[in-house]
Amino acid sequence: MIATINPATGETVKTFDPASDDDIEKALALGAETARTYRSTTFAQRAQWMRATADLLEAEADDVAAMMTLEMGKTLASAKGEVLKCAKGFRYYADNAEEMLADEPADSAAVDASQAYARYQPIGVVLAIMPWNFPLWQAVRFAAPALMAGNVGLLKHASNVPQSALYLADVIRRGGFPEGCFQTLLIGAGAVESVLRDPRVAAATLTGSEPAGRSVAAIAGDEVKHTVLELGGSDPFVVMPSADLDAAVSTAVTARVQNNGQSCIAAKRFIVHTDVYDEFAAKFVDAMKALTVGDPTDPDTDVGPLATDQGRADVEELVADAVERGAETLCGGTRLDGPGWYYPPTVIAGITPEMRMYTEEVFGPVAGLYRAADVDEALDIANATDFGLGSNAWTTDAAEVDRFIADLDAGQVFINGMTVSYPELPFGGTRRSGTGRELAAHGIREFCNVKTVWIG
Ligand code: NAP
Repeated sequence: MIATINPATGETVKTFDPASDDDIEKALALGAETARTYRSTTFAQRAQWMRATADLLEAEADDVAAMMTLEMGKTLASAKGEVLKCAKGFRYYADNAEEMLADEPADSAAVDASQAYARYQPIGVVLAIMPWNFPLWQAVRFAAPALMAGNVGLLKHASNVPQSALYLADVIRRGGFPEGCFQTLLIGAGAVESVLRDPRVAAATLTGSEPAGRSVAAIAGDEVKHTVLELGGSDPFVVMPSADLDAAVSTAVTARVQNNGQSCIAAKRFIVHTDVYDEFAAKFVDAMKALTVGDPTDPDTDVGPLATDQGRADVEELVADAVERGAETLCGGTRLDGPGWYYPPTVIAGITPEMRMYTEEVFGPVAGLYRAADVDEALDIANATDFGLGSNAWTTDAAEVDRFIADLDAGQVFINGMTVSYPELPFGGTRRSGTGRELAAHGIREFCNVKTVWIG
């Protein structure tokens, strides 16, 4: 079902008809036709539309934030922050895309040419399959670079954020982009395969779970189409004795409960050196307990509901599995009574390798606490999952900093801070967290034909 269902109450607010076969055909035809002409627009023209879109996002931020909170339960303050971040993303690529995609000269004499260089060219229609957790930012992270590169986008958003999906296509159109540059297709996951196989679709990007990524990558592989996959994570947050413990605790709380605990780059496993473990655990549990859980529209709320009933059930299942096998619940651990899909900030200690939480991602405000004897053991635990998205280490020891940068098996390492996505930095993972990169110059080049030019 494609619908807005308020996670704070469980009430179905609005349902949407999925796109018909005819709608899908029209969108594909329009996308392909637009791609043929849009690729010749200038960077200056695209940048003007990007900035106009950013202006609209800023002007409409309050209303858009309320819509996002209604659809997926994030707090109003974080929803507004997300809208403004999207505006920043549009401006960043408006300012920088031309330089990122400038011709790259090669040593022409070495290749017997009068001129030789690499040119970045658009590839056409890119299908973007996106998750609900950052309903605007995940899609903008794709759309802003894609549009500046001269590509056109077709968005298949998560089925529980249709209003956010429709809004994004609308605001981009109102920003001045030609009709067909960025369209939303209201389709369920089952309709993705035929769209992806359509010859008018050149490539795909998916942000979401590992099973969805595996399925899309298999179909794209069969069609020999490029994909970027941003999948799950179970990021480690290592704390060593030299760290500023109070700063580490307060960042740990934010890193775990941001977005009601539903962020791919949330720190999920807290691996603490034995010398500071007890002090960290006591302060961390106190701070998690002190958070206010409740109505996401209330400015005093720190943690709103989970986005879906199923999402909460998945979290409960992982916690129950750990507890049944002997883990200890230091706080939280039981769903809140009443309507809405609330789950409290929770800390679980004593997690061992046979428990699912040791290797699986918990997509809710549940922190796993681990004790490590030294750097080696901390790294062993940190790298003991199949994921490799973000990672965090807290230490002021220079040798340890070098060690964590070198040996944390992840796409990103943040020292004395939490993982954040910035337009200026590449974003992505290793192993089961995905392939390819978004953001920065690396992201915009993913959906380009890197054309070798040789002139004799
Ligand atoms: P999900 O179920 O994989 O959904 C994500 C998107 O994929 C939705 O649009 C969904 O459509 C679609 N989808 C699901 N199964 C599909 C399939 N077999 N074929 C094609 N499309 C399919 O993910 P989620 O549970 O909503 O989101 C949470 C997951 O996303 C977590 O694992 C999280 O870590 C990950 N995530 C990763 C990043 C990152 O940047 N690495 C960012 C955010 C979230 P429907 O809604 O219609 O099912």
